Amino acid sequence: MSQLIFLGTAGSTAVINKFMRFSGGIIIQTQGLQLHLDPGPGAVNQARALGINVHHTSAILVSHNHLNHCNDLNILVEAMTHSGIEHRGIIMGSKSVLQETPENRPYLTRYHQSLVEKIIPLEKDHKIAIENIEIHSLSVEHTDPHAVGFKIITPRFVISYPGDTIMTEQLVQELMGTDILILNVPYPGKTAKGMNLDTDAAIKIVNAVKPKLTIMTHFGLEMIKADPLFEAREVQRITGVTTVAVKDGLTIVPEALGNKAPVKGFN
Ligand SMILES: [Zn+2]
Repeated sequence: MSQLIFLGTAGSTAVINKFMRFSGGIIIQTQGLQLHLDPGPGAVNQARALGINVHHTSAILVSHNHLNHCNDLNILVEAMTHSGIEHRGIIMGSKSVLQETPENRPYLTRYHQSLVEKIIPLEKDHKIAIENIEIHSLSVEHTDPHAVGFKIITPRFVISYPGDTIMTEQLVQELMGTDILILNVPYPGKTAKGMNLDTDAAIKIVNAVKPKLTIMTHFGLEMIKADPLFEAREVQRITGVTTVAVKDGLTIVPEALGNKAPVKGFN
């Protein structure tokens, strides 16, 4: 059985600092692998609180270099490798996190680079295989020009996580064939600021891609005020696609998608 575990659902540092929601990213357990997406602040602590053994992490996927996506990357590497005693694990993600750029030093320190088995800075249209799953990078557009998204193709289902982005035709094309679409939607209605999604853009993406399940997460202050549950209901009403607004610690079982209740702990 596979599981998607949402450690936190905060979509801005303001939401984290006001203790409204946790952050820490998303864990995907499937095919004997444990993937950790976007380990933001508190990733290791939240995982431990939810009974997840971070030492079992097979790969860390980081979409871009904003703090709420990569803050705990180095500490997670220490946890994954028992502080370097075991040389293991794969890290893939945006060049802005893994490599020196003209603007920034790499977020992953040189020391932590030396602890893992493999580091893969992702280009657009990059395809990587880990055992029997495939990971394709998604073309996204965000304020970090090196940002990438992830399409994770398992033998049983396809999960896509574009991360932070605006909607583009290219992205919609690349998302086709997705079963479970995880969208970062920090803004409600038609109020997006910066290069991010709002509910209106989410509706357009979901209408075009028609996944089996849409998961909304990464909520900003305005979104929390508007109520993510209400916004998710709007997406579902307009698109006809089952849509949930996740809460911190929520687990989703993809294999149960054909059944009525794929979501554990959702109310
Ligand atoms: Zn961002």
